[in-house]
Amino acid sequence: MARKRLIWQLYFTYLLVIVAALAAATWYFSASFRQFYIDQTADKLSTLAKVYSTQITPLVQESKNDEIDTLCKKFSKLSAVRITIISTSGTVLGDSEQDPAKMENHSDRPEFIQAIQKSFGQSIRLSHTLDKKMLYIALPIVSNGKTIAVIRTAISINMIDDKLHYIYIKIAAAAILVSVIVAFLSVAVIMLNDTTKIRRLENIRKDFVANVSHELKTPITSIKGFVETLLDGSVKDPAQIRQFLEIISKHTQRLDAIVDDLLSLSRLEENKSRRDIVFNKVYLKSILAAAIELSNIKVSQKQITINLNCLDDFKINANTLLLEQAVFNLIDNAIKYSEPDNTIKITAQESEKEILISVQDNGCGIEQKHLSRLFERFYVVDKSRSRKLGGTGLGLSIVKHIAQLHKGSVSVESTPGKGSTFTIHLPTV
Ligand code: ADP
Repeated sequence: MARKRLIWQLYFTYLLVIVAALAAATWYFSASFRQFYIDQTADKLSTLAKVYSTQITPLVQESKNDEIDTLCKKFSKLSAVRITIISTSGTVLGDSEQDPAKMENHSDRPEFIQAIQKSFGQSIRLSHTLDKKMLYIALPIVSNGKTIAVIRTAISINMIDDKLHYIYIKIAAAAILVSVIVAFLSVAVIMLNDTTKIRRLENIRKDFVANVSHELKTPITSIKGFVETLLDGSVKDPAQIRQFLEIISKHTQRLDAIVDDLLSLSRLEENKSRRDIVFNKVYLKSILAAAIELSNIKVSQKQITINLNCLDDFKINANTLLLEQAVFNLIDNAIKYSEPDNTIKITAQESEKEILISVQDNGCGIEQKHLSRLFERFYVVDKSRSRKLGGTGLGLSIVKHIAQLHKGSVSVESTPGKGSTFTIHLPTV
């Protein structure tokens, strides 16, 4: 559904841009083309007017109006241009299209007025006589330095509009073609994007399966080896048998821990996609105390002191069990990666924008280059150390998921040899 909408959105955006560009280009080119054509035609009309006036001038001088009219009709046949000769008072002396006697006085025609006043007249208007849009050019007929009449040449410019119309149709056809291409392009872009996304997800899935298989395979291979040796019956020493069984037990615990963590992760992801976890207003201190309680055995084994710094009445909106698990994972790591007799500080603070829950230790610390990858599944800094300490490489990834389910995040600051501080950031509302 969303994909379809995206295709349409993309398609209409492209289309809008292209149609706007085409419309602007059409307007610009048709205006330029029209002007160019008019200028060209005006030049031609004025040349013809000059040529014809040389032959008509003697007839005007002698007032041979019939011959003037005949000549107008003859010239018009040759050039397909309308020719009119008008006396200085506006009387039509000859016209290629009409009987001059039936024509009204032309002294009010703009091109005539301009020709008398400025020696050159030009206008584009509807012809009363022919009922067509015409381009007129008018020049004075001069004899002995005096204007004795006006010669006017004219041509219909409907043709230009017909030509422009033809261009518009061509552009419309191009626009339709372009919009079809745009449709294909938008679909192609989305499909390409989808394929990349699918490929990326597929790679993540493949990596994950490979990691899980590898992590499970190691303890299973070990267990298999020791069980086969024991079954073989060659080991008789009870102390050695016990040692083997302890190793088997350790690997079983590891398998158990990995499967537990994987189940947690998959439940978190499911919750994330279903968005159905329950949030309540709860006292943060009780969540932190419960997480510390869970770590009690390891704390006392390593003689670790835990300092909790959280106001009694600090209430937050959270899923109790999940947040407890996230804090427990951080405390568990802090214990794992600290030397005995150390102190772990747990602090809850509220700033303007967020609630910060941090777990600070004075342990081995982490080199800068690992920090950005620490929250990835199965990422561990030192494989053998993590394994020896019972780590799965999934603890921090679970913390990240829980923080995200709370619309928050997790960050880390660490100095090798000095210690680390992991902080869960939660939104205030
Ligand atoms: P693990 O189960 O191996 O602890 P995590 O996902 O919890 O996996 O942590 C990933 C890695 O981050 C650990 O292997 C360890 O190298 C490093 N790490 C996590 N917490 C700490 C810490 N408090 N001090 C030092 N290193 C840590």
